[in-house]
Amino acid sequence: MKFRSTNRKCDEVRLCDAVLQGLAPDGGLYVPVSIPTLPPHFFTRMRSMKFPETAVEVMLPFVGNEIPEPELARILLDALTIPVPLVTLSPRLHVLELFHGPTLAFKDFGARTMARLLSYFAGKRGGEFTVLVATSGDTGSAVAQGFLGVPGVRVTILYPAGRVSAAQEKQFTTLGKNITALEVAGAFDDCQRLLKQAFADAELTERIRLTTGNSINIARLLPQMFYYFSGVAKLKDRGTPVAVSVPSGNFGNLTAGVMAKHLGLPVAQFIAATNVNDVVPEYLRSGSFRPRPSQPTLSSAMDVGNPSNFARLTDLYQNDLSAMRREIWGCTATDDETLQAMKSVHERFGYLTDPHTAVGILAFERFLKQRNAPSQGIVLGTAHPGKFRDAVARATGVSIPLPEPLAAPLALPKQSIALPNTFEALKQFLLG
Ligand SMILES: *Cc1c(COP(=O)(O)O)cnc(C)c1O
Repeated sequence: MKFRSTNRKCDEVRLCDAVLQGLAPDGGLYVPVSIPTLPPHFFTRMRSMKFPETAVEVMLPFVGNEIPEPELARILLDALTIPVPLVTLSPRLHVLELFHGPTLAFKDFGARTMARLLSYFAGKRGGEFTVLVATSGDTGSAVAQGFLGVPGVRVTILYPAGRVSAAQEKQFTTLGKNITALEVAGAFDDCQRLLKQAFADAELTERIRLTTGNSINIARLLPQMFYYFSGVAKLKDRGTPVAVSVPSGNFGNLTAGVMAKHLGLPVAQFIAATNVNDVVPEYLRSGSFRPRPSQPTLSSAMDVGNPSNFARLTDLYQNDLSAMRREIWGCTATDDETLQAMKSVHERFGYLTDPHTAVGILAFERFLKQRNAPSQGIVLGTAHPGKFRDAVARATGVSIPLPEPLAAPLALPKQSIALPNTFEALKQFLLG
């Protein structure tokens, strides 16, 4: 399979180059040149397949002969040792819990797979790679954990000072080894901008081999298709159309879902569920895309004012807004509505959710109300409630213990480097 840039101003490349480069040389994002439909027998077999087996079959068309199949199977088996339970709250409402990996959020799937793919491809090239990541909270820890101790790879994390929770910060500032965290005096969008500037800087890219760990990198996005298959395969009701509600910020997860649908997965509807940083729902309503600075909310991992995967999403729909509107319904939730949803979900189903997942549940329930046709919903459970204990306690009065993977790093000293919000500072650091 070849990959091309969303800007269409550079050559098509193989998966290996797309993964090692991260961002395309013309500043665009890599997308597959085409997405084939998987054979019908795959969809019948998928109900009885194990998660890593499904992953191999979904991944194969994109890998082609670049990685021998047994090696690919080994990589995916090693990366995907994470349970993916589908929890039924009511006959029409299911939560696909994607938060049972080492950092208790869905990004573990993409990050762990990307780390292994990158290490495989980099190993073939030789030399040291620098993985640059901008994070609004969860990406940093997932990517750092995914790469921790991987030889030949140095990870540099950019995060906005004072804008991530203490527990999140400790997860990626206490690891040491090949992981360095830079605390940027700015917002997440500044971190993302600095990262893009680094890739656009000829001197920098000549002197060090840079790639990105953000969902800009296609190696993080492809694995996010896997669990959509797993979720649909686990539904008992095979007749009612499926709507998947995706709590969204940078829109990597939703883009992966749309790609899964292109592969033939029967999803009737996607729901783009956001907090008040709702540039995509607004685009779906008004037809104009107006990025703006992000606002802090309770669902902080979705505080993105200029979602990087928007370019991929419009590319997948060939810039056809009405086609996108048929498949994606946008929904915005305020913090008050989010807290209300967390409370109501707990009261009705005895289920605790983090604020991100709650935004997804709320969006699905709104969707059901405004459609007359029957629908069953899979809401992507993007983070463990224990990651957002304060919000859970505020909404429900329930105090949950801090999960062990979060508790352990809290006792360790934070090791981060303060960075002014300028590209020069970042460049000096990377070259130094
Ligand atoms: C990253 C993240 C999101 C947003 O995912 P995108 O792919 O950026 O849209 C939602 N919820 C949680 C908990 C996250 O960590």
